[in-house]
Amino acid sequence: MGMEKYIGIDLGTVNVYIYVKGKGIVLKEPSVVAKNKDTNKILAIGEDARRMLGKTPGNIITKRPMKDGVIADYETTEKMLEYFIRKVWGKARFSKPRVAVGIPSGGTEVERRAVVEACLQAGAKEAFIIEEPMAAAIGAGIDVGEASGNMVVDIGGGTTDIAVISLGGIVVSNSLRIAGNKFDEDIVKYVRAKYGLMIGENSAERAKIEVGIAITPEDNDDKVFELRGRDLVSGLPRTIEISTKEIHEALASSLGLIVEGVRFVLENTPPELASDIADRGIVITGGGALLKGIDTLIANTTLTPVTIAEKPLSCVAIGTGEFADYLKILKEGKGIIMISR
Ligand code: ADP
Ligand code: MG
Repeated sequence: MGMEKYIGIDLGTVNVYIYVKGKGIVLKEPSVVAKNKDTNKILAIGEDARRMLGKTPGNIITKRPMKDGVIADYETTEKMLEYFIRKVWGKARFSKPRVAVGIPSGGTEVERRAVVEACLQAGAKEAFIIEEPMAAAIGAGIDVGEASGNMVVDIGGGTTDIAVISLGGIVVSNSLRIAGNKFDEDIVKYVRAKYGLMIGENSAERAKIEVGIAITPEDNDDKVFELRGRDLVSGLPRTIEISTKEIHEALASSLGLIVEGVRFVLENTPPELASDIADRGIVITGGGALLKGIDTLIANTTLTPVTIAEKPLSCVAIGTGEFADYLKILKEGKGIIMISR
């Protein structure tokens, strides 16, 4: 049992991460699949598929099978999962892996089954499904088994998942379809409205990462980022400079909704657990944790201390790979579902 290998998979909207205990993150690829539009045949998966994005001839399309934090296309998700598991596990091994997959909370029974089937198809001996907030908490180093309230806020690409965990189970949770991708869309809309310029979501994302901020920037914090796009009137290429202040303006209402979501969960947390959270603070995970000032924003609006997990992008994967340490105390049905062959 101790010798048995265990792989943990974060099936994210934007990226898939695979973690193997003792080895660390062994795979990080975009959750993208390229298909032939006419035959629906899969041509490439992950990094190879992403490279085709935007450069594809007319009959090749690229798809993200996970969308807005849910499995939008099971069949493709299954194929993608199988491909990644085989890639890290290889075919010639004697032992079969146990696989744990972190999936968004709120998935249906059918979706969970589909994920488990995909793992078994790919050669797993046993498959476990763990709800993302639980995995994120374990990956952030929180002792999820203790009799104390802990709050995790995972800001990913498609969703922000907020959960209070105590005694190995999720006690209160909330999932919002507002996260990194929405921030990018906000920037696209802002630039279109203010400058009459059409920019792509990738440019918007780069601006967010380079100069974005979640709190009102200080004067000396006002950097600019060059954005190239197409003028809506002339149809010609044009470049503008967008400032930190402007990105803050663009993101303000989405950030406000995230804050509201966090406060809603706090308000619905049993008083004892809420007082634990007030003492120990909220932990932020996911790529959105890297947005400058997000910790200060949440701390100021909830009057609660906030910390950013050490490796925010890898927390869910680490948590799925290490959840077995908590197997005895995790509560079936409250954040984890175990299905084996
Ligand atoms: P998912 O779990 O949904 O795949 P991730 O947790 O991997 O999502 O986070 C991806 C999101 O994090 C993307 O929207 C990306 O733009 C955002 N992100 C990554 N790095 C940063 C950064 N430095 N600042 C702000 N956002 C970031
Ligand atoms: Mg995630």
